[in-house]
Amino acid sequence: MTRTSPAATPVTALVLHGGAGVLADRSYDVEIAHLRNLAEEGRAALAAGADALDVVCDMVRAMEISGLYVAGKGSAPNRAGRYELDAAVMDGRGRRAGAVSALEGFLSPVDAARAVMDHTPHVLLAGAGAAHFAREHGLAAVRDPDGYYMSAAAPDSRAIPTGTVGAVALDASGALAAATSTGGTLNKVWGRVGDTPIIGSGTWADERAAVSCTGQGEFFMRANAAADVSARVRYAGSDLDAAVQGALDDVGALGGEGGIIAVDASGAVSARYNSPGMKHAIVHPGGRITAGVK
Ligand code: ASP
Repeated sequence: MTRTSPAATPVTALVLHGGAGVLADRSYDVEIAHLRNLAEEGRAALAAGADALDVVCDMVRAMEISGLYVAGKGSAPNRAGRYELDAAVMDGRGRRAGAVSALEGFLSPVDAARAVMDHTPHVLLAGAGAAHFAREHGLAAVRDPDGYYMSAAAPDSRAIPTGTVGAVALDASGALAAATSTGGTLNKVWGRVGDTPIIGSGTWADERAAVSCTGQGEFFMRANAAADVSARVRYAGSDLDAAVQGALDDVGALGGEGGIIAVDASGAVSARYNSPGMKHAIVHPGGRITAGVK
């Protein structure tokens, strides 16, 4: 009698970041514990067959609502005192993408970005138009900005959360996806938009790799950093980690600081930074979880 060997378990992987901004004399134990818990949830979802796109959106939404990072509830106001938020999602299958920039008044910018992708022929909606769209689609609104955002109530600047958030995943079907969300850089000018919602700069997913960036967005835009990771894999034949380091070196050569997380179609993962640290958690292929600031 011939025995059929059991089908190989499909490889899944997940990387999360909670931002490149870290202060040397502040503990990030709470944020790292939160990232580790989320990574455990994401690992279970992927093992149960969840879609990479759904998982990265779920991870980023949880980080937005937590108030622990500079995204969603943890966002800081711009110089005009307004909370303008950016977010993007990208699905490696077919390179579908959605993003919002300078969005005001909604709990989960990543949900708005997903709705742009799912319900419009467009990739990026900005400002008042993005808010109008989010309202029309019934997304949950912030009723009282001054009471909601953490920075409005923070007793001192050290209590203000730091860090954009992002997630990249490979699911059991082989699909790759990325999502990123941010309140932007501290003290930004009214109307400033960073790399996060710019597809190719701060967020990217295709058939080779899914990438999410954090740091000084202007430099990541000028380096087209997220798409550059996949381009290095495609044209230079780099492995994922070398591609991430290469893209980060380019950001650094321009004078920029930050970090990049990525996963590829084989399940290889990377989390690199040239900043003093980057809050992150990794579900390695095989399921082991590592998390930390360094
Ligand atoms: N990259 C984000 C931006 O420039 C900020 C951050 O990652 O902290 O908007």
